Amino acid sequence: MGRTRLLGVALDPKRTVSELRELRELTGDENGAQRVAWTDTWERSREWLRGLVAETGATESIDQAGNQWFTLGGESDRAVLIGGHMDSVPNGGWLDGCLNVVAGVEVLRRIAAEGTPPVTVRLVSWADEEGARFGRSLFGSSAAAGSMSDQDELRDLSDSNGTTLPDALAAYGVDLDSVLAAREELDSAAAYLELHIEQGPVLESLGLPLGVVLGTFGVERHRVTWRGQAAHAGSTPMDKRRDALAGAAKLALEIREIARRTGGGAVCTSGGVVCKPGIVTSVVETAEQLLDQRDLSAQRLATMLAEAKAASERFAAEESIDAAWERIWSIEPILFDETLVGFAEEAIQAVAPAVHRLPSGPLHDAAEVSRAGVPTVMLFVQSLRGLSHTKLEDTREEHLELAVSALDGLASRTLAWVAGGGGR
Ligand SMILES: [Zn+2]
Repeated sequence: MGRTRLLGVALDPKRTVSELRELRELTGDENGAQRVAWTDTWERSREWLRGLVAETGATESIDQAGNQWFTLGGESDRAVLIGGHMDSVPNGGWLDGCLNVVAGVEVLRRIAAEGTPPVTVRLVSWADEEGARFGRSLFGSSAAAGSMSDQDELRDLSDSNGTTLPDALAAYGVDLDSVLAAREELDSAAAYLELHIEQGPVLESLGLPLGVVLGTFGVERHRVTWRGQAAHAGSTPMDKRRDALAGAAKLALEIREIARRTGGGAVCTSGGVVCKPGIVTSVVETAEQLLDQRDLSAQRLATMLAEAKAASERFAAEESIDAAWERIWSIEPILFDETLVGFAEEAIQAVAPAVHRLPSGPLHDAAEVSRAGVPTVMLFVQSLRGLSHTKLEDTREEHLELAVSALDGLASRTLAWVAGGGGR
């Protein structure tokens, strides 16, 4: 196949750490990473990646949504995908997104060095995961997954300098009207693997370097409008009040109990309450409360919502007020593939003292790929202090090395599985 062979090259996780440092030098400044998608600095990171992958003999292509692919042909066209994103938020961290890609390069080197793999291996750097410039996250992966349906809204978006999204894309050869053509990239995909920093405090609090991600949370967001009666704060006896804020306050406490009772990582948040008339001398007439509920199980999420609604009716009756619910946004939980979750656990067990299974609060490109029907799993590596999207984002060097080894172990198991007929 004319490929440059790297015979005898073993996995070298330390090389990944030094390459990540090199990338930080190349595309960051004193305020952090500056690889915002559709900018010169982002393009520089893609050129750098191109240079890194060249020695493996993998072929580069950029699809119609701007995703950058490197394909190492195997004996079969069915492909194991390893993915991440080179783009960052402005003043971002040195690991978010690019860890997955650079670790993937190391895995690709190891596989290429062993000769033609039994199935094709593809490394993908998704375009504009962060949505930092135009506010549309998961751009490239949602196009490839075929779930993008907001092109009409995207056409009208512009950045803070007034550049429109279509113009910014055009500078990188991407036509908004054609992005869904990227769907063909997933036609041969048998499995998808993604390593990411946790961006939260759970693994650090457990003292564990790595975790296997079970899926991404389903989310229910509602606005609850409580209606009572404005009345003078001095002349209205306590038992004659119809206080809208009382309902919101009771519900804000009750949803904490609902989440605790549900357990398993469920979370409920009362994100804000706006009161009217909002003056110190009046009982509150209306209180608009924002509610966010999340869980990995669609059924448990539905139960949490039903319990919150029932509680609101009870509080409305107690306070002689009304409660009206309006859904703002919702998304189903996305569960990763059970077989791949098992492989991920084995791969972690081979390098770490214990495995923790956890859900992902944030959405990732992996959720889009999974939604498209490709068996998917993610690995999380511990984030120090749970910080991300800041230059303070960090992970211990030895944990980064373990993460590269775990990704490699996961890739080996997945390759063997797909070669034996597993996967999609
Ligand atoms: Zn990310």
